[in-house]
Amino acid sequence: MFYFRTVTVNPPLPERIARLRDLSYNLWFSWHSPARELYREINPGLWEQVEHNPVKFLQRVHREELDRVAANQHFLEKYDAVMARYDRYMSEEKWFQQTYPRFKDKNIAYFSAEFGLHESLPIYSGGLGVLAGDHTKSASDLGLPFVGVGLLYKHGYFNQFINPEGRQETYYPDLNFNEMPIIPVVGESGLDTTVSVELPGRTVHIRIWKVQVGLSQLILLDADLPLNMEEDRKITGQLYGGGREMRIAQEIVLGVGGVRALRTLGITPAVWHINEGHSAFLTLERLREMVSQGVPSATAREAIRANTIFTTHTPVPAGHDVFDRDMTEKYLAELCRDTGMDCDTLLELGWDAQQDEFNMTVLAMRMAGFCNGVSKLHGEVTRQMLHRFYPAIPVEEVPVTSVTNGVHTRSWIAEVWKNIFSQYLGENWADKVTDPAMWQRIDEIPDQVIWDTHMYLKEQAIQYIRDRIKKNCRRNHGSEALIAEAGGVLLPHALTIGFARRFATYKRAALIFNDPERLAAILNDLDRPVQIVFAGKAHPKDGEGQELIKKIIDFSREEPFKGKIVFLENYDINVARHLVHGVDVWLNTPRWPMEASGTSGMKAAMNGVLHCSVLDGWWPEAYNGKNGFAIGHPGDLQLHETQQDKSDTYYLYRVLEEKVIPLYYDRQNDIPGQWAAMMRSSMRTIIPIFSTARMVMEYTDRLYAAAIDRGIAFMESNYAAAEQACRFKRFIQENWHHVKVERTDSNGRWDMQAGEELVVGSVVKLGPIRPSEVAVEIAFGSDQGPYISNLNTIIMELKETLGDGTYRYTGKVPLSQGTYGYTVRVRPAHQYMYGKFEIPLVRWAECF
Ligand SMILES: *Cc1c(COP(=O)(O)O)cnc(C)c1O
Repeated sequence: MFYFRTVTVNPPLPERIARLRDLSYNLWFSWHSPARELYREINPGLWEQVEHNPVKFLQRVHREELDRVAANQHFLEKYDAVMARYDRYMSEEKWFQQTYPRFKDKNIAYFSAEFGLHESLPIYSGGLGVLAGDHTKSASDLGLPFVGVGLLYKHGYFNQFINPEGRQETYYPDLNFNEMPIIPVVGESGLDTTVSVELPGRTVHIRIWKVQVGLSQLILLDADLPLNMEEDRKITGQLYGGGREMRIAQEIVLGVGGVRALRTLGITPAVWHINEGHSAFLTLERLREMVSQGVPSATAREAIRANTIFTTHTPVPAGHDVFDRDMTEKYLAELCRDTGMDCDTLLELGWDAQQDEFNMTVLAMRMAGFCNGVSKLHGEVTRQMLHRFYPAIPVEEVPVTSVTNGVHTRSWIAEVWKNIFSQYLGENWADKVTDPAMWQRIDEIPDQVIWDTHMYLKEQAIQYIRDRIKKNCRRNHGSEALIAEAGGVLLPHALTIGFARRFATYKRAALIFNDPERLAAILNDLDRPVQIVFAGKAHPKDGEGQELIKKIIDFSREEPFKGKIVFLENYDINVARHLVHGVDVWLNTPRWPMEASGTSGMKAAMNGVLHCSVLDGWWPEAYNGKNGFAIGHPGDLQLHETQQDKSDTYYLYRVLEEKVIPLYYDRQNDIPGQWAAMMRSSMRTIIPIFSTARMVMEYTDRLYAAAIDRGIAFMESNYAAAEQACRFKRFIQENWHHVKVERTDSNGRWDMQAGEELVVGSVVKLGPIRPSEVAVEIAFGSDQGPYISNLNTIIMELKETLGDGTYRYTGKVPLSQGTYGYTVRVRPAHQYMYGKFEIPLVRWAECF
C-alpha cells in the first residue's frame, strides 16, 4: 500500500447559477423539492443516474448543459425563487430564538450511531436513523442551536439484492466521500482536522467531516486514515457490521471521539442527548475531562447527569448493547487510568449485576438525569423493564418519561399533497404544522380532489415498482418474457397494501401468510382484488429475518400469488418515500409490545394512506376508530407469543375482510366516499401530532430547557451545586434507615359523600434528616386489588415538631365519586433533585 491524498476538481459553474454548488452541500435540498427540481431540469437522466445526489450531479454534468439553463429565463426565475427561499430560511428568526432567547447560543449535541437524511448519504439502517435525521431537520426548522454527532461509514449500510433463488444477497458499496454532500473539516494549515482515541495498545486517529442540514450541523467521524492500522481503518467501515470487539471500538470512537471532535471545533454543548445506548461512552469522556480538571468524580457524575438526556428505543433485548467484563476492562483501561478511578468503580457505572455484563443502556440510564422512551406505551414498557434497577419505588414512578416520535413532514408528505395543503390551508401551512385548528380545514377538500390526488400518487408508485422490478429482473438475467411480466405486475385499481421495514423477527412480516388459502381468496377476488408490496432488509447475521424474505419471495413467484405479491429489493429512504405516498393501506404487525414506536405508519398516514396496525408503539395514541384500522383489541394483548400470533392472524384477516376491503370498494361515481373521509381524518389527526416539529418542541420544552438550566446551575462556582447534590445524595443514602411513618390517622370512612375531604395526619420520624430534605405525601389512587394504581400525591404540611427527630404532618384530599386507596409516604426532596426520584428511595406508612 502507498500513501496518497485526494483532490476533487469540479467543473466551473456559470456565474449566474453558481450557488447551485452551495445548495448541493446543504441537505435543505432534501426537503425542498423545488430545489431538487433545478438539478433534475438540467439533465433528468443524469439526476436519476446519480441517485438524486446534487454534489455528484454537478461533478458529472456538462458545461454546455449548465450554460444552456443559465441563459434560460424560465429556469433563472425558478433558480432565483429557490435561492430567495433558501436565504430566507437560513436567516429568519425561528421558534427557538423567540421562545428561549436566553438559550440562543446554547448548543444541543445529539449523538447517534446512524442518521437517515437522504438517499445520497447512506449512513442509516432503519427507523432509528431516519428518526435522528428527521430530528436534525426539525431542529433546524425550529432554530435550535443543534449539532448532531455520528459516524461516517465507508461502506454505509449494505445494499440488498435478491438473487434468482429468492435469497437476500448483501453488498457493501465503497462510498466516495468526495461525491457526497459532506465537507472535510480543515484547519488553518489546510490539513484535515483530526482527533484521536485510545484503544488497547494503540491510538486511533479520526478525521472530522461536516454536513450542513439547513441550520443544523452534523459532525461525522471517520477512522479510515492511512495513519491508522488496517484493522482500525475498518472501525468506521460498516454500520452494525463486525463482532463485539468492533462494536465496542465503534462506540468508543462515537462517544469519546465525538466529545473530542466537538471540543476541537470549539463547540461547547449545553445539553448532551444520547440517542440510543450506542453513544453512551460520551459520558465517560466527559467524566475524564472533569476529573482531569480536578473535579471529584462523584461531583462530576452529578454535573454530567444534570444536562444529559437518554432516549431508549427498544424493548427487544438484542437491541441493547452489552459487553463482557474482559472486553470492557480491556477497552476502558485507558479511561480508568485517566479518571483515577479503579476499573471496577468505572465499570460499575454500566454494570448489570443480574446479567453479569456491561450494558450501554444501563450506563446511559445511570449517567443521564433525563431518560425517555419513544411512545406512551414504550414509556410504560421501559419503566417495567428498568424497574429492577429501582426496586424501592413503584414501577409507574421509575424516572423514565416518554416523548412520542414523529416524522419530518416536509420530507415525507408528497409534493402534490403539499400543493393541495397550500391551496386549502394557506401558503404557510408548513410553518403551522403543529396547529390542530388549521388541520380542521382539511375537511374542506372535496372527495374528488382527495381521490384524484391519491390515485395520481398510486399510479406513480406502481410505475416506480414496475420499473425497479424490471431492472432487477434484467440484472438477474431473466428472460425477455420474465422482464415483460415484471413490467405488468400490480393492477392500478386494486387495493394495494404496503409492508416495508427492517425484517426483524418481532415485526412479523409474514404474519399475513399464516393461512395461505384464506389470503389467496382475499387477493384473488375478481370484483375486489387486493395486492401487497413488501420491502425490507434483514441484518446479514439475522438468519430468521432472511428466511422470512425468502418465504415471501417464494410465495410471490407462484400461483395464486404471482403478480399480486411483490417484493421490492433494497429498501431505503427513496423506496420508502414512493411506498408511503402511493399505496392504499400501510400494514404493521409487530409482536406487542416490541415496537417501541414505529414511524413508517406516520409517514403513510400523513399522505392519507390508511394505517392498519396492531395497537402497539405510537398507534394506540393516534387511533380513534376513524383514521385507520386496528388489528385486534388493546385488551387481549397479554398473550403468550404463539397465542398472540394466532390471535393477531385471526383479527388481521377479519379487519381486511370486514372493514378494509368493503370500505375501499364501496364506490359512488367511482369514488369511495367513506374511504376519502378516513383519509382526511388520518391527515387531520396525525399530521399535527406525529411530526418531528411537535416532537422537537416537546423535547425542548420538557427536557432540553430543564437540562440547560440544570447544567448551568451545576457548573457554576466551580461545580458548587453538583457538589451539594452529591453530598445530599450520600447523606440521604446513609441515613434513610432512620425514616419511618410512625402513626397515621384519618377521617376516612367506608361511606363518605362526594365533596367531603379526606383529612390525614401522620407522625413521621426523620432522625438526622431535616424536614426540608424530604417530602411527606398522601399517595392515593384507584384501589385495584393488591396495589394502588394511577397514583396521585398531595404534599402534607409540617404541623408540629415533636422532638427527637419526629414531626407531625397533615394533609387533605378532596374526593370525587369513586373508591380510593390511600396511604402516606416519605421521599427525599431537595432543590437540586430533578423529578421525584432522583434518589430512588421512599418510605411507606406500614400500618394504620
Ligand atoms: C421510516 C423508515 C423506517 C422505520 O420504519 P418502521 O416501520 O417504523 O420500523 C425504516 N426504514 C426506512 C428507510 C424508513 O424511511
